[in-house]
Amino acid sequence: MAKLIMFNWKMNPSSVQEAGVLAQASDHEHVVVVPPFPYLLVAGDMLTRAQLGAQDVFWENPPERKGSFTGEVSASQLKDMNVKYVIVGHSERRHKLHESDEVIAKKLRTAFDAGFISVLCVGETKEERAAGKTEEVITRQIAADLSLMAGVSIPSDRILLAYEPVWAIGTGDPETPAGAAKTIGFIRSVLRSQISVTPQVLYGGSVTGDNVNDFLKLPEIDGVLVGGASLKTDEIEKMLALL
Ligand code: PEP
Repeated sequence: MAKLIMFNWKMNPSSVQEAGVLAQASDHEHVVVVPPFPYLLVAGDMLTRAQLGAQDVFWENPPERKGSFTGEVSASQLKDMNVKYVIVGHSERRHKLHESDEVIAKKLRTAFDAGFISVLCVGETKEERAAGKTEEVITRQIAADLSLMAGVSIPSDRILLAYEPVWAIGTGDPETPAGAAKTIGFIRSVLRSQISVTPQVLYGGSVTGDNVNDFLKLPEIDGVLVGGASLKTDEIEKMLALL
């Protein structure tokens, strides 16, 4: 299967014009462009080959409660923007915005019910890694975040996992490709035993145009989730040349 590259723009760029330039530069098969909500429309208009993703979704989507959640964005609104992928549980939401596994589980279920491909991010902090708890943390996150999917049959093309060690995100200090492959193998074994599904698993954390191939060439790694480097057209060009 072709490898996937997801470009997570986070809270960037700072103008509609820059968003259009980035989206145009990223428009390639097997790419998912994930802009912040205000730029979904302009980015979506530029994409003919890449797919559109969202960085988050609100956990409630019933029609009768429409509109009563100030500041949130619903699954129906994202569908209307032609969004196909939704990131859930990004470490910045877990650690900087204190999003709990309970909330992540609700968002994952909402995204699944709405028909998106959910991208669940898991990964350990620096302290957890130093304490040898990487596998324990990931096992706990997967169990908690998928708790509302019990009894639901999940087609393997409706969910993606992203292994994103927190200490590697935005630091310029990526996990080694071999280390990422090993943990991804572990994630697959947990998923197999917990939900009998083997989705694609991506690596994320300080991936750039210069190191992306070291990750993509490993058979265990199905693709990459890229933050900072997805905002630079020269980096984008180097990454897309490998697809
Ligand atoms: C991310 O935003 O998920 C990410 C991996 O960021 P960066 O590539 O900047 O480390």
